[in-house]
Amino acid sequence: VPAHYNHGVTFPDELRPWQSRLREQFPIIAGDPDLAYLDSAATAQKPRAVLDAVTDYLTTENANAGRGTYPWANRTTALIEQAQQRVRRFLGDPEPDRSGVHFVSGTTEGLRLVARDWLVRHLRDGDEIILPVADHSANTLPWREAADQLAREGVTVGVRPMPYDAARDYDHRALTAMVNERTRFIATTHVHHVYGGDMNIGRIRAAAGPDAVICLDAAQGVGHLPLSVAELDVDFVVFSGHKAMALPGTGAIWSRNRRGSRFAPGGWAGTPNTSGIVSLAAALDWLEEAGVEWIARWTVALGARLTDGLRKLPAYEVLGCQRSLAADSPVQQRHGIVTFRHRRIGSNDLGFILAAEGFMVRADGHCQAEGGETTSSVRVSVHAYNTVDEVDRLLEALARLDTEG
Ligand code: PLP
Repeated sequence: VPAHYNHGVTFPDELRPWQSRLREQFPIIAGDPDLAYLDSAATAQKPRAVLDAVTDYLTTENANAGRGTYPWANRTTALIEQAQQRVRRFLGDPEPDRSGVHFVSGTTEGLRLVARDWLVRHLRDGDEIILPVADHSANTLPWREAADQLAREGVTVGVRPMPYDAARDYDHRALTAMVNERTRFIATTHVHHVYGGDMNIGRIRAAAGPDAVICLDAAQGVGHLPLSVAELDVDFVVFSGHKAMALPGTGAIWSRNRRGSRFAPGGWAGTPNTSGIVSLAAALDWLEEAGVEWIARWTVALGARLTDGLRKLPAYEVLGCQRSLAADSPVQQRHGIVTFRHRRIGSNDLGFILAAEGFMVRADGHCQAEGGETTSSVRVSVHAYNTVDEVDRLLEALARLDTEG
């Protein structure tokens, strides 16, 4: 690898032994260094501990929850309650008896339920809401639909678009100016799914004032960087378990029972995804043990390395986040997600070229309904199991396409 790929990035070399022990725990990639799974923002791979927890549960005590008088059913109910506590602990919930945890199939369903079963029921004539416009469509469309529904019902709600700055972060100053005593609700994203930017949610509460209800789409945050609801002072956190190393079809809504944000979804019935919920609790255990702080440092460093390398290849344009990406920068904003375009090769074609060389990346569009500049691009996203070697090999492959004409 040419030396300039490493330019400007001090890598947390002390984390390498920790990281190689982690990678071995993922059966799908362990032992095959030629496979480079670089699409964790779409879904994460699963550590053996999660797979074992699911197998154990299904082979020893699988039953429906809350439906029986026999031990397996009672145990299943207890596992679900424990998983709720697990989510609260993972999110640093300071008042676990004053919050709710509802399991869902993922962030899309979770945000839709908050829109349908909380927002629509709680907004009154004259309320204002602030909604993201350049975030994942799961975090834009349900709110707009809720506002449209209210309008049809004759409730007049002021809908304000979230302001962004040039780096695609939220513009906290403009947000502060936008908030007034009628602002009831603000929808936010923790880490952007295209630019990888940490959206600085810590500053949202200050901008929002004490009373507005804040909902956080933490799909790309949970497991990637520490998340404390006490520190962030948000009212809803919605995330996907499968992006946090649990099984597909898992996720959760955490809600706080104050500021009128008590969440009581209607029509909640039927059989829960018990083995999925078991996997979610096991995944949160695993992440905590691995060390979310370390995962953040590792994935930020990999992202910085990739970005630095790409910026030296004239054929590529890296999208979003123009701030300094030096690894020792206090603003370590790119959480393992880097999106770019080749100036001549279409992104879909680039995806196929990379796939032929063993690189699994996301190519083409990225689920932005509006306000996105990313109609077609390639997204590389890493997690704890990804290695420096994978990033360097990817840069080598990309460099071979960095030709004139
Ligand atoms: N929000 C963000 C920021 C995402 O990145 C995603 C998935 O890519 C979602 C929401 C939707 O998550 P899911 O497909 O698990 O419902």
